[in-house]
Amino acid sequence: MREPGDLQALRAMSARVGRNMLLVQGAGGNSSVKDDDVLWVKASGTWLSDANEKDIFVPVLLPAARAALAGDDERIPLAAPGPLRASIETSLHALMPHRVVLHVHAVNTIAWAARRDARDEFASRLEGLAWRHLDYFHPGLPLARAVGAIVAQERIDVLILGNHGLVVGAETCEQAEALVHDVETRLALPVRTTPPADEDGLHRLCAGTDYRLPHDAESHGIATDPYSRAIATGGSLYPDHVVFLGPGLPTVEGADGLATLLARAQASGLPAPIAALVPGLGAVIRSDASPGAEAMLSCLALVTSRLPLSAEISYLSSQHEQMLLNWDAERYRQQVTASRG
Ligand SMILES: [Zn+2]
Repeated sequence: MREPGDLQALRAMSARVGRNMLLVQGAGGNSSVKDDDVLWVKASGTWLSDANEKDIFVPVLLPAARAALAGDDERIPLAAPGPLRASIETSLHALMPHRVVLHVHAVNTIAWAARRDARDEFASRLEGLAWRHLDYFHPGLPLARAVGAIVAQERIDVLILGNHGLVVGAETCEQAEALVHDVETRLALPVRTTPPADEDGLHRLCAGTDYRLPHDAESHGIATDPYSRAIATGGSLYPDHVVFLGPGLPTVEGADGLATLLARAQASGLPAPIAALVPGLGAVIRSDASPGAEAMLSCLALVTSRLPLSAEISYLSSQHEQMLLNWDAERYRQQVTASRG
């Protein structure tokens, strides 16, 4: 299959964006370029940060991607046979009229997009851009349909996805990347300093259990800061949190708190929580947690520390959480991410 000239630029831009934790965490985010009737889009479960070293882009025919919206089939056939699947958000990329589309989980955008009281702020901070804000929609076809209804009516370059993230469209990779940075600068929020972790206390708590300390020390802030902890235990803010960490985050109280947590999960037939918060001490994560889960804990620290005390938080409903947990396309994405060498 003939590669368009700017596929190399897409790889370089995607790798840059993917390595910036403030824009993309783990397998999140995706990007694409259109070339005649072919859409080159990130493969499901691959990491943007790997774009320079691995073949993470797959070709699909634009008519096929657009046709998927009419039916209910989330699997869009590749234009050239290969082992990977196209991104869950392929239809969204196909619907945007721009040559280059970039979707990120940028932390300032997410912090605003997880609030009920952000409408006026969006209007003043994004003035001059062609932008729209959407409510939360389940990723994949439901989100693509909502985006399709908007872009069918007017040229929109910036989409703020409620409880999810940011989509931008542009004619070049450089313009798309610059637009993401522009939006994030406009939406920048002060970061609350969180108290340090008690790592000795956490090591004592984890001794002899299937839990350990997360690799990113910043993650502890979710547990040591009372307000971040209240947000994190109150529910789920965005889809990838549910997919990689489960709904919300439990807290651990007392010396045998981890045992209680496990017993409680077992009694309700649930797997052991992937991560938990120990008030005042820090965060713990299951010893077998994937890099994708680690990245989601980091993301939650970055988002919660940007939510001010006055924010009116909007959580995903339990129905939305269940849709994410019982979604085949997501299971596939997690498997690919888990097997990332
Ligand atoms: Zn997303």
